Amino acid sequence: MIMIMLGAQGTGKGTVAGLISEKIGIPQISTGDIFRKNINEKTPLGIEADKYISKGNLVPDDITVPMVEEVLSSEEAKNGAILDGFPRTIEQAEKLDKILEAKGKKVDMVINLVTPKEELIDRMLTRRVCSNQNCKTIYNIKLHPPIKEGVCDKCGALLKQREDDSDPEAIKRRLEIYEEKTSPLVEYYKNKGVLKSETVSISINRMGKDVAKEIVETLK
Ligand code: ADP
Ligand code: ZN
Repeated sequence: MIMIMLGAQGTGKGTVAGLISEKIGIPQISTGDIFRKNINEKTPLGIEADKYISKGNLVPDDITVPMVEEVLSSEEAKNGAILDGFPRTIEQAEKLDKILEAKGKKVDMVINLVTPKEELIDRMLTRRVCSNQNCKTIYNIKLHPPIKEGVCDKCGALLKQREDDSDPEAIKRRLEIYEEKTSPLVEYYKNKGVLKSETVSISINRMGKDVAKEIVETLK
C-alpha cells in the first residue's frame, strides 16, 4: 500500500499520516522529518538541506529524490509507506512513479486535505512538536493542546516550535510554493483515479483525527 498525503502546510498531513500509520502498521515517511533529523545531527545532507529549508524553499531534487528512493527500498517500507511531504512537484510525482514502477508498485491512494486558507497560517503559528526524535507527536496549543503545557503527553519530552513555523516570511513563502508547485498534483492524481479529497476545518468541527478514522475504516 503506497499512500500519499497531499495538502497545504498546516492542514494536518503529519497528524493524519501518523494516526493512519499507527492503525494500519505501514510506516509514515515524512521528508520534512528526515530533513529535520539530519539538520539536528548536522549530517552533510542536513547542512545542505538547511540552506533551503530555513528560507522556506524546496530542497533540490538531487538531494530529495535519492533520499526518498533509499527509504522506499528499505526493509521498513517493504509492505508500503505513507508518504507525507513527498511528492511536492509534478516532477517529483513523475520520478516517484518511475521508482515505484521499477519495484512493481504504484501509488494506491492519495489523501488530499483541504483547509480554508485563513485557518492555515494560524495553525502553523500554534503548532508544536515533540522534541523527542522517536516520538515527534504534533500538537496545537489552540486545537489540541497537551495535558501539561509544553510537555508531550506520550513521552514527557519538551514541545518546541519549528523554526520555519515561527518565521512569518518562511510561512508565506511555503504557502506560495504550495500554490504554485504542489497544488497541481491534485489534478495529476485525480486523473489517475486515486484521489480522495477531505476537508479539515474547525468551522465544520472536522479534525484530522476524524479524517484518519474514516480512512482507516475504508481500508478494513
Ligand atoms: P511543511 O509542509 O509544513 O512546510 P515539512 O515538514 O513537510 O513542512 O517540510 C519542511 C521543509 O522541508 C519544506 O519547507 C521544504 O523546504 C523541505 N521539504 C520537505 N519535503 C520536500 C520535498 N518533497 N521536496 C523538497 N523539499 C522538501
Ligand atoms: Zn513525545
